[in-house]
Amino acid sequence: MGEKITLHLTDWQYNAGLVGLVNILGRDNFLIKDQSITFSSELLVDFQNKYFNFFIDTYKKTLSWYKIISYQERIDYFEETNFETFNEKDLDTLNTYIKDTVKYYLKSASYKAAYPLIDATVNPQIWEKELKTVGSLKKRETFEEKRSEIILEVQAVFSQLKKIIAYCNSDLGRKYLAGKNVIYTVIRNGWDGVSFLFRQTKIPDMYLDYQSYFLSELTEYTAEKEKYKHHCSNCNQPMKNYKNDLNFLNQTGFDANRKTSHVWNFNNDIAVCPMCKLVYSCLPAGFTYAYQEGMFINANTEAKMLLDTNQLLQRNVLNPVGESTLNETSPYVALLQGIQEQQNKSTKYELAEIQVVRYEKETYRFSLLSKTTLRILNDSKKQLDFLIKTSFREVNTSFSLYKLVMQRLFNNENLFTLIHKTLVYKLSNVSDLYYQSFHIDQMLVINTHFLRGIGRMENISTKQVSYARYFGEQFKELYKKRSNERKINGISYRLLNALKTNNHDLFMDVLLNCCSYLAIEVPAVFLKSFEGDEEFKTLGYSFVSGMIGSTSATTEKNEENVGE
Ligand SMILES: [Zn+2]
Repeated sequence: MGEKITLHLTDWQYNAGLVGLVNILGRDNFLIKDQSITFSSELLVDFQNKYFNFFIDTYKKTLSWYKIISYQERIDYFEETNFETFNEKDLDTLNTYIKDTVKYYLKSASYKAAYPLIDATVNPQIWEKELKTVGSLKKRETFEEKRSEIILEVQAVFSQLKKIIAYCNSDLGRKYLAGKNVIYTVIRNGWDGVSFLFRQTKIPDMYLDYQSYFLSELTEYTAEKEKYKHHCSNCNQPMKNYKNDLNFLNQTGFDANRKTSHVWNFNNDIAVCPMCKLVYSCLPAGFTYAYQEGMFINANTEAKMLLDTNQLLQRNVLNPVGESTLNETSPYVALLQGIQEQQNKSTKYELAEIQVVRYEKETYRFSLLSKTTLRILNDSKKQLDFLIKTSFREVNTSFSLYKLVMQRLFNNENLFTLIHKTLVYKLSNVSDLYYQSFHIDQMLVINTHFLRGIGRMENISTKQVSYARYFGEQFKELYKKRSNERKINGISYRLLNALKTNNHDLFMDVLLNCCSYLAIEVPAVFLKSFEGDEEFKTLGYSFVSGMIGSTSATTEKNEENVGE
């Protein structure tokens, strides 16, 4: 025991596993140098408990188990204050909690499977059946009239609930209920089909199941290692046989950076040693999961950088400081922060490409953030910050502009279609728009950074772009003065149509007509800079944005009356 183990960075899945291993065992226990991490094999004692504890602690507040036990605080409060403040709304909350949380989860399959492991003599399913919502009011009865009777009922149901909560919050309750929770909400994002995720597993205790599948082999292996003649396809260490493949890892999609990969099932012919298998099982601890999406930054220049960026990502997303709450933009905001922090800290990392791996709808998606993309993100920090709280709805889904912009930049796509869509929505007064034309302007600036970054649009300056916007505002004022403001809408639609179809002539026709009606000259910027399509679109959209919107940065809806 106490033997030193050194592991080296390889492909992204293994790297995510390494980050996971460090997260599980604690960074202080590792020596981190160049592309490797070193630790003592003693740390692997009792690894199954450390494995589950990491997931339970990290994702605690998202677990159904936590939803059950966290009501204890409310119970304590009402009892300490003698139910003085208990009102109708509290009664509703209590009943929803009983019905949708406690009763719902206590009878779910994964909870039922955990009961025998916690205490074979207790059956919480009986508690579930006995537990009923309380304080229902008959017609024409009011809460106030029935208050004292209701409180008695609430007190009775509280004593039932306290028993249930104490059971769930016991050491074994946490171990097995929260343990079951993380299997299905977190771990299964990374792997499936073996050990406790094998549907017909013979071992009911998932801790023992993990131990048996991932750890038992390792002890024997470490002792006998030198005798084996086969080699692990990941770390090249000797191994006994080709038994351990990587089929338990969730589908990898197509990773162009992995030379051996084929579109079909390339894991089939890969066999690994027991140590690598253990590391791969830690993959979900290296990813950060939030809002049905997982993210891992394969910043593999150095092990230190890999750990820094991903630990920062996890910390910022799962334990946000201050007012920021977890939402779908969080991983992207944290990612950008991480990248910037790295670049500010040391020039050594500067200009190193970063691979971002996202797990979305059970598929991995890869973006290689080139040096150019990183520079564009850096240059656009201010504009991106303005977009954090913006969104619009389509059918029943809300889309964050921040996330959409980031995704396009990750994929090296320009923002014109997004800019077009947000302008059309604004103009049509679609409901549930949480952005202003001010935010569209930010996207135009980011898009200009993007186009410049890839060597386009060198013929126009930022000044000219903001002038186009300013001219749009003036243009609208002139129509207002002539009491012809309602024409603005129709003109905007025609201009947007010309921009969408890339029709320079149509755009100029509309513009010239309007200018002659207003008896003003068409600004020179529109005449000489319309050569390239991107210049045309940038100036055109900027002009329309100025025409239809205010410059306010608020994301409150209906703040501005568009196109009246
Ligand atoms: Zn290996």
